[in-house]
Amino acid sequence: MTAINQYPVPAGGDARRCPCLSGETLAACCGRFLHAPSGTTYPPTAEALMRSRYTAFATLSADYLLRTWHPETRPDTLELDPQQHWYRLEILNTVGGGPWDNDGVVSFRARYRHGGVRDSLSETSRFVRLGRQWLYADAL
Ligand SMILES: [Zn+2]
Repeated sequence: MTAINQYPVPAGGDARRCPCLSGETLAACCGRFLHAPSGTTYPPTAEALMRSRYTAFATLSADYLLRTWHPETRPDTLELDPQQHWYRLEILNTVGGGPWDNDGVVSFRARYRHGGVRDSLSETSRFVRLGRQWLYADAL
């Protein structure tokens, strides 16, 4: 499949492997959250939200990124660069962010290719839980 040159997994809808590299299919992993009707299914932990937001970057799902962004830090609009191909996520460390926590911190490295150049983004992200929903707050 030629798509394998552009993305880490061949195209195939939600049956393909999840871009967050959990080993699950997209449908069983981040797709549950990205493609759920808004407000029905939330990632249970800060790390699960972080993974699903990475998958949203990888699948150009700007709407999901905006609705999982804390209202105090959320930009009005978000434009994703289709030339930026995210191909690998590594979770480096997680503090808090469990189902019974109100906040959590996740450090990760995300690798991408852009115009034939490989690079990576490392970030320590802070997440807060509002009710049942984990939200991305900011980067430390
Ligand atoms: Zn996933």
